[in-house]
Amino acid sequence: MSNEGKTGYVKIDNIMVQHLIKSALQFVSVTLKFVKENELKKEDAKHYIKEMLHAVLFLLYINKPSIEPQEFLSDGMLEYFRRNCSDVLEKYKTHLPLRPPYSILLDLVVKMWGDNPQDRMILDNLFQLNKDMLISGTVNEEQMSANDFAFSSRVVSCCYFSKKNTNFKTRKYFGASVACKGKIQREVFIDVACVKTWHPKVAIGVINASTGSETLQLPEYVFSTAYRMKSSKTNLHLHYEAMPPCPRCLDIFPNIIFSPKALPFHIAKWEHGNCAECESVSNLLKAERDLDRAVVMPSSNNRINRQQRLIKNLQKTRFLLRSNLIYYDSD
Ligand SMILES: [Zn+2]
Repeated sequence: MSNEGKTGYVKIDNIMVQHLIKSALQFVSVTLKFVKENELKKEDAKHYIKEMLHAVLFLLYINKPSIEPQEFLSDGMLEYFRRNCSDVLEKYKTHLPLRPPYSILLDLVVKMWGDNPQDRMILDNLFQLNKDMLISGTVNEEQMSANDFAFSSRVVSCCYFSKKNTNFKTRKYFGASVACKGKIQREVFIDVACVKTWHPKVAIGVINASTGSETLQLPEYVFSTAYRMKSSKTNLHLHYEAMPPCPRCLDIFPNIIFSPKALPFHIAKWEHGNCAECESVSNLLKAERDLDRAVVMPSSNNRINRQQRLIKNLQKTRFLLRSNLIYYDSD
């Protein structure tokens, strides 16, 4: 199956649009290849492919200019998707994805490693996938951040809970930062996460931190490390490096033990909820019931404000809003 796409399409004369389309094609082909090469139950594989494709098509559709699948997917790819996931080719216009494409890929990678995934395995795997997703012609990190990382998260975070004074430790849970281009797209994914996807306590904790109200108190001790994909100064070799938490994460999760520790001066230009920590802690609370029960639900709940911003942002795009927000279910 060719992943060349339709590079001759007339709308695609803008360099940013070209890069977006190339990144999308690369992301879709790398994910398809990864699913094929790894032994995954047929149903699971289908579920991940559909969810990933839907999220990518949604992002291109709400882009300005809006890009439809037939405008960039090769005929072979289109035919493949028509046969295997025809509903996706309709629902990207009317249904919201629950998470960005890279979070879906990360989830897939973590699943591959079974019940006890470790940082190194996940990072090595992601590293290879990220490399495969780079568009040829990339020569340095700055160019990559401008073009090629439209669908890839630079930061991945990992957390676990360890019960005080005991040997009890949960497995590790992972999350990715919000990866997409454009202010509207980024806000849409953060708001969808706050309204629908994340564990409600994490979602409300994120919103409260952004308004300066009651913060989320997790039981002692939750440990968290985030890794950022970097290229070293001396050469362009890409690698992951553990990084300190940003001030936004310190607001949201005041009692998490971060490693490495926070820096005294650190400015965050992004909004609360953009960081990988939110997804990883949400995954931790969703899976560990006892831990969840020990977390007090913050009393103020401003999720309705996020829903309003979400609708407002979608109204600025070609997305077809119905009376209720509908989310895509790949099952
Ligand atoms: Zn952060």
